Amino acid sequence: MLTPLKRKSILVVGSVALDTVETPRGKATRVLGGSATYFALAASLFAPVRMVSVVGEDFPRRYLNKFRQRRIDTAGMKVLPGRTFSWHGRYRENMNEAETISVCQNVLRHFPGVPAHYSDSRLVFLANTDPITQRKTLKSVQAPSLVACDTMNLWIRTQPAALKKLLREVDILLVNDAEARMLTGRNNLPSAVWALLEHGPKTVIVKKGEHGVFLCTGGELFAVPAYPLHQVVDPTGAGDSFAGGFLGYLACCRKITPRQVRRAVVYGAVVASFTVEDFSTRRLEKISLPEVEKRFQEMKRMVRF
Ligand code: AMP
Repeated sequence: MLTPLKRKSILVVGSVALDTVETPRGKATRVLGGSATYFALAASLFAPVRMVSVVGEDFPRRYLNKFRQRRIDTAGMKVLPGRTFSWHGRYRENMNEAETISVCQNVLRHFPGVPAHYSDSRLVFLANTDPITQRKTLKSVQAPSLVACDTMNLWIRTQPAALKKLLREVDILLVNDAEARMLTGRNNLPSAVWALLEHGPKTVIVKKGEHGVFLCTGGELFAVPAYPLHQVVDPTGAGDSFAGGFLGYLACCRKITPRQVRRAVVYGAVVASFTVEDFSTRRLEKISLPEVEKRFQEMKRMVRF
């Protein structure tokens, strides 16, 4: 059973969004989304979370309350005049790939600085946003013990130099399989992962949707399947929820050993499995640690041989 002893605070920087999502199971319009949102709700199951992001005046107060109910520190979240960042995406039968129909940066162009009292954060997650904002945030943290980052095809295409600089400053890179191939120009996944390790991160985690997760650290490879579900309703946020479960678990560990990193990968996969069972954060915001633990034990039985 997971017993959080001395939990470290995790700082997350990323988007908070109003998403419109269409999947073969239905449609949700202007619902809570964003990379920092999913991460924070997932990680806060395990450890205290501090959030740096920005929303517009149209952002419903009830969504802010969802963060507060989970005791997420929102001092770093600014409400600015204008509209909240919005993303409209669609998934076809193959739920592994989102098609972006529209994206409006809106107030996300005016990213706030990091509150002074966040500068002692020990763990940092640079969730998907532009790499310049990610680097700027990282510079505001005095002595992080672990820095992880995510990115997406948009930044790989439009800001490759800033992204490469960022990779030299992070310990862990989390990407999906298509991004790993795009970043390296290599089609073979293990070969893409080894190439990514040469860019700086000591650990690379590749998320493969329903096919699970692939990890490479210290010359060791590790792979786990996704938690098997009867039905995926909305895959949005699976990657960020994975990151939240992964770093949340590590925040509870006294020492980060290769064994703990493997366990963290399984916690990440389990938390993500809840997120995709409903639209937006509906399922994620209701889960409890004992439910997570139950699926963790099932995963353990499933992969033991
Ligand atoms: P994921 O499914 O884990 O890759 O992340 C989905 C979330 O990413 C959605 O809730 C979107 O609001 C958010 N998102 C999509 N495009 C961007 C972008 N360009 N910058 C920041 N966040 C984004």
